[in-house]
Amino acid sequence: MKLSTKIFLGMVLGVIVGASLNWLSGYESGFAANLAAWLVNSVFDVVGQIFIASLKLLVVPLVFVSLVCGASTMGVNARMGHMAAKTLGLYLLTTAIAITLALLFANLINPGEGIDIATTSIYEAKPAPSVKEVLINIFPTNPVKAMAEGNMLQIIVFAILMGVAVTHSGEKGKQVLSFFESFNEVVMAMVSFLMHLAPYGVFCLLAKLFSELGISAILDLAKYFFTVVLVLLLHGLGVYTLLFKLLTRLSPLTLLKNVRPAMLFAFSTSSSSATIPVTMNVAERRIGIDNSIASFTVPLGATINMDGTAIMQGVATVFIAQAFNIDISLGGYVAVILTATLASIGTAGVPGVGLITLSLVLQQVGLPVEGIALIIGVDRLLDMVRTAVNVTGDCVVSTVVARSEGLLNEDIFYEVSDRDQYEEKQG
Ligand code: ASP
Repeated sequence: MKLSTKIFLGMVLGVIVGASLNWLSGYESGFAANLAAWLVNSVFDVVGQIFIASLKLLVVPLVFVSLVCGASTMGVNARMGHMAAKTLGLYLLTTAIAITLALLFANLINPGEGIDIATTSIYEAKPAPSVKEVLINIFPTNPVKAMAEGNMLQIIVFAILMGVAVTHSGEKGKQVLSFFESFNEVVMAMVSFLMHLAPYGVFCLLAKLFSELGISAILDLAKYFFTVVLVLLLHGLGVYTLLFKLLTRLSPLTLLKNVRPAMLFAFSTSSSSATIPVTMNVAERRIGIDNSIASFTVPLGATINMDGTAIMQGVATVFIAQAFNIDISLGGYVAVILTATLASIGTAGVPGVGLITLSLVLQQVGLPVEGIALIIGVDRLLDMVRTAVNVTGDCVVSTVVARSEGLLNEDIFYEVSDRDQYEEKQG
């Protein structure tokens, strides 16, 4: 069986087992409830958390080593600046499109009509970082601290600096580069080991999650939930496909097929950041993006490009406004688009952060931040879908940039035999 098929099976089984356990734990009878609790807390939770920890373990070494190699291959020149500007521009553009689409559909569907706000619990909003803080925070004072904290933007800055310095260090630099290149291979091998274990990890993660999620939460918020999912699907399958076809003339279907493992990981972990090792692997070995591009665009995207999150924030803003009977003016909508696009830069790629930066967007248009309490019940589920969209967006933009720089290997992109060999090796 192919690896992605196995992961998919793990996901489906995880949801089924989790939902059944949730139902079992509702029973008063001691035995069934105890068994369910034991399975969830002592087996699924342990294996799931170890799986996530192992994924996160690889993020910092992979991003750092890979980006040092990438930056030294590319060197510091106009081309690198050009590539970086293009990547950033496309990330912002896709996010702005995402949020605009979300506002449009939310206004058509009106998910917040008829909501009784009296039933909400109190939500304690955590402060979102200011734009100034976000900017200053990009520059590290201590590379070890940046790595220890897993601060992706700081690691990116340090790795680029190091990679560029390597190219300026002559013979000695070449020795360092060859060390990093070998190191990169080793880390990639670790990623492959881990992908091998993914079906089991994913199963446990989802079984644990669904054993705790009451599906009834969706029913209460069905209109909101399905509006977000609809726009996520439209963006993920429609907008990306169109944009990709237009900008690359390659087959969007092949791209989506190639991206699949990253989507499955993102969905199961709800964290673009923890998915970085897989996204990088997919970008280089399944899509055919050169390391000099992928090593920069993938970690950057996982950190600042959050189209799915922006979509949730757009729909949530309209939903909360309607629930509280507050009108948003046209200028308000423009402010929402701008703030949500910027907020997605400040959203870390870990579960649930989109909800925190939502408070930034709400404040911008004068909506009550407590409104977040209304949607919190279904956010964990939506987080999974929007993270998959976030990661797909990173891959789409990375491919477009690689193609425009002439650094996309079309043979790998279309080459089925290569990929099958690769998957055979995994599974
Ligand atoms: N979980 C999302 C991600 O990692 C961020 C969010 O929307 O909360 O991409």
